[in-house]
Amino acid sequence: MLRQSGKNLEWLPNIQCNALPHDGPVPPERENKHYFSPNRFYCVETICAPCGTVIAWTKFDRAESPTNIMKFLNRIYTTGESRPDYICIDKACTVLRHIVANHAYEDWFQTTRFIVDSYHYINHKATDNMCYTWCNPAPTDGSAPNLVVSTIDKDGNPCFKHAFNTQACEQLNSWLGGYESILKRMTPGNFNWFLHTMLYYHTKHVLRKQKLQKEKEEGEIQAETSNENEDPDSDQYY
Ligand SMILES: [Zn+2]
Repeated sequence: MLRQSGKNLEWLPNIQCNALPHDGPVPPERENKHYFSPNRFYCVETICAPCGTVIAWTKFDRAESPTNIMKFLNRIYTTGESRPDYICIDKACTVLRHIVANHAYEDWFQTTRFIVDSYHYINHKATDNMCYTWCNPAPTDGSAPNLVVSTIDKDGNPCFKHAFNTQACEQLNSWLGGYESILKRMTPGNFNWFLHTMLYYHTKHVLRKQKLQKEKEEGEIQAETSNENEDPDSDQYY
């Protein structure tokens, strides 16, 4: 979110907009205005992979509604094969209810499960059975082995950990938030260009870091292999 709703600056039009809870009721959609100003956009929405690679971004006019979210997802994932197994959204349970109400579940449930990211999940209602059952990012009852893996903590005790970083988008938004004061003063064209360029270079940076990490790991494996071959004591194992 680039601009907190409800936060007005004195040189901008006085638009009152209350912050909405992530799993709260969805307000009715308003009609689009025929003019653009970055400050009038409720948020910039991004889709990114758990590694931080940005897949797509868009601007939502005023409301981050389930309708807008599903329109965005349907535009990016045009076929069932292209969809990810899991989609993490801060308001996944609200989106899920929207999908069920609009009978889109017959299509989407074939391929994808909607879960809340672990950062926001703690603020969702524990009494919401649908959210708890279907949108939990880390169920410990063994129902989602692709989301939770068992491991050993630093004290040697067995524990569970997230298999994926479900907070990648939140971390990206936090980084983008640092540019908020620049972006909100831009013309529409500059806003789009600047944001797209930043996300493009951010993704290149993420991919470069992954490549370096991979090379480092391969180098370590090679070094270990050659050390084993050169170790004179290694003969005793043969
Ligand atoms: Zn929820």
